[in-house]
Amino acid sequence: MAMFESLSKRLEGIFNNLSGQGKLTEEDVNAALREVRIALIEADVNLKVARQFVERVKEKAIGADVLGSLSPAQQVLSIVNDELIEVLGGTEGKNKLELSGNPPVIMLVGLQGSGKTTTAAKLGRYLRDKQGMRPLLVAADMYRPAAVNQLKALGKQLQLPVYWEQMGADPVDICVNALEHAREQACNVIILDTAGRLNIDERMMEEVRTIRSRVQPHEVLLVADAMTGQEAVRVAKDFNEAVSLTGMILTKMDGDARGGAALSIRAVTGLPVKFMGVGEKTDALVPFHPDRLASRILG
Ligand code: GDP
Repeated sequence: MAMFESLSKRLEGIFNNLSGQGKLTEEDVNAALREVRIALIEADVNLKVARQFVERVKEKAIGADVLGSLSPAQQVLSIVNDELIEVLGGTEGKNKLELSGNPPVIMLVGLQGSGKTTTAAKLGRYLRDKQGMRPLLVAADMYRPAAVNQLKALGKQLQLPVYWEQMGADPVDICVNALEHAREQACNVIILDTAGRLNIDERMMEEVRTIRSRVQPHEVLLVADAMTGQEAVRVAKDFNEAVSLTGMILTKMDGDARGGAALSIRAVTGLPVKFMGVGEKTDALVPFHPDRLASRILG
């Protein structure tokens, strides 16, 4: 992507006079890292995270031998790439969904408009088509009147069962009743679409906490809109403090969000990103791969 070219070009420029010196000096590395920091901030990574990230790269880069096969610029980029992957969750599968419950219950939480209801349907489709599971979608977002109908319509379209109750029903009861319903229907994974509000408020958090303690979900995933950048980081932090999340799904990654939000969220909350939404269609959900996002941030 354009930013990589510019970052790589900028680094080439800085390192042009360097080759042959054998080691990366602090001065050269500092100059290069200024460019890296600017590129990260342009990719919407928050300032503090960008600064910490650059410090980590600096420790590794200074004194590193300039390898014959790589230009110094390539070498710094390669260290940046490795560190990005590390911060984004490494390569050991921490980003995998926990599906060992009997049945596993996946609770989706998030603000209105983040893509939560759409993501519930996408995840159901994904688990059925890619993992051969029998999902039950549960309409427990009683705050957005259209959400229940929207999930019912998506379920019908995808031929996935949806559990719902009349408007006015208690969302906690709905979730508890849904567990029973899943057993009757022989569904082996449950996806709860819970309350979404325009703003985080204490009542919403209380409801989410109550469902969490009554239902004991194996995953509590925050669905957050990557296009909102720094706002998504704040939302993740608040939700995590209030209800203790197990991970994130970042939606709208098909937009021009460069993925900086994922890096910030991961660095600030430590939460793994498990999936990314990459479009409005119900098949536009992909597992999160740190290495792919790293190359997206860099190019
Ligand atoms: P909710 O209020 O959080 O349940 O949000 P919705 O599921 O109704 O989604 C809000 C809007 O975002 C809808 O128009 C969705 O089609 C759209 N949306 C959700 N996920 C994605 C995504 O990954 N990419 C794009 N481009 N749009 C998305």
